[in-house]
Amino acid sequence: MRLADRMEHVKDKEMLKVMELSETEGVISFAGGFPSPEAYPVEDIRESFLWVLDRDPRGALSYSATGGYGPLRDLLAKRMKRNFALDFTREQVIITNGSQQALDMTGLMLINPGDVILFEAPSYLGALNAFKAYEAEMVAVPTDDDGIQIGPLKAALEKYGERVKLIYVIPDYQNPTGRCWSVERRRAFMETVAAWDLAVLEDAAYSELAFSHQLEPPLLSFDRKGQVIYCGTFSKIFCPGLRIAWVCAAGELIEQYLLLKNNVDLSSSAIIHRQMVHYLEHYDLDGHIRRISALYQQRCRLMVECAGEFFPEEVRFNEPKGGLFVWAALPEGGDSRQLLERAVREKVAFVPGASFYPDGAPGNEFRLNFTNVPEEQIREGMARLGRVMKE
Ligand code: PMP
Repeated sequence: MRLADRMEHVKDKEMLKVMELSETEGVISFAGGFPSPEAYPVEDIRESFLWVLDRDPRGALSYSATGGYGPLRDLLAKRMKRNFALDFTREQVIITNGSQQALDMTGLMLINPGDVILFEAPSYLGALNAFKAYEAEMVAVPTDDDGIQIGPLKAALEKYGERVKLIYVIPDYQNPTGRCWSVERRRAFMETVAAWDLAVLEDAAYSELAFSHQLEPPLLSFDRKGQVIYCGTFSKIFCPGLRIAWVCAAGELIEQYLLLKNNVDLSSSAIIHRQMVHYLEHYDLDGHIRRISALYQQRCRLMVECAGEFFPEEVRFNEPKGGLFVWAALPEGGDSRQLLERAVREKVAFVPGASFYPDGAPGNEFRLNFTNVPEEQIREGMARLGRVMKE
């Protein structure tokens, strides 16, 4: 079959392979990026669906408006106001099928072949792959514990100039490192980019999963030029299977998303939007978030304790303050892909760090998920991993 040239850039099977490995029978998997399924409020969701089917079956089974069900857009605008004191109208909120769709649509909207996208390295593979499909040149900017590094960011902006169309960042409890940008770094970042004609895609997938329940100010709140496209999702704070996410941005950009959304899938699911509205109005999403954050904090602590107990001393790891992941590193020169091969024989899995850099070069880092594994398995899995490392 004669495929489009862009398919040359859609080859990355790394993540599929890792997921396959980790789903093998008996494997304790720290590989996924999922919230904990046993925490889903299944009964409340069931009741919400039944309520919608009883009260508004025809609306629920029809097409939705392109930007999503109006009352859900209103509730999301209200949530942005309550969480971050940011004012958005219903029209400035577009609902997408998961934030993955919003990432892909952003590439579709902004990127010509050869345009440069800057991103914090390491970063979320699903976004990097989506952008690569639009034949972007992906340029890594290094990060430290406070976020993207401003010196190298300025150097990259000087070097690539107007070719830089987009900067993709995950400031809160980032995937894969679990790091959260400091407020000073957020401010410095926004001051730096304000001098350039480019868009910033702020992926806020983990922003509400702060163990302290204290939300960080989004980049959007420092934006004076309408550069930031904010992308939120219910996947990590609620259930990924519902595929509800949203984009907030300045009016001019939002219009483009609306046009694209119509091309891509006409609209997201009417019934799911309606059940979400019912859930938000009659149940307690904030209580749910508080409960899962407490659970995740407990699992995170346990994982970090086990890393201290079972890993060789030279292996480094961080202790995140939110999100789903611990980021770890073998000593310099170590290869975490090789470690994974051996680990899978011992029935434990994780994601090698190379998966979070677009060139996929072998490296010593790796990502461990703590949310989707019950406590007793965290202990057993970390003990197995420690044994493999010591071998
Ligand atoms: N952004 C980040 C940083 C993610 O980690 C993920 C999922 N792992 C997504 C976006 C996509 O999430 P969803 O499409 O379910 O909203």
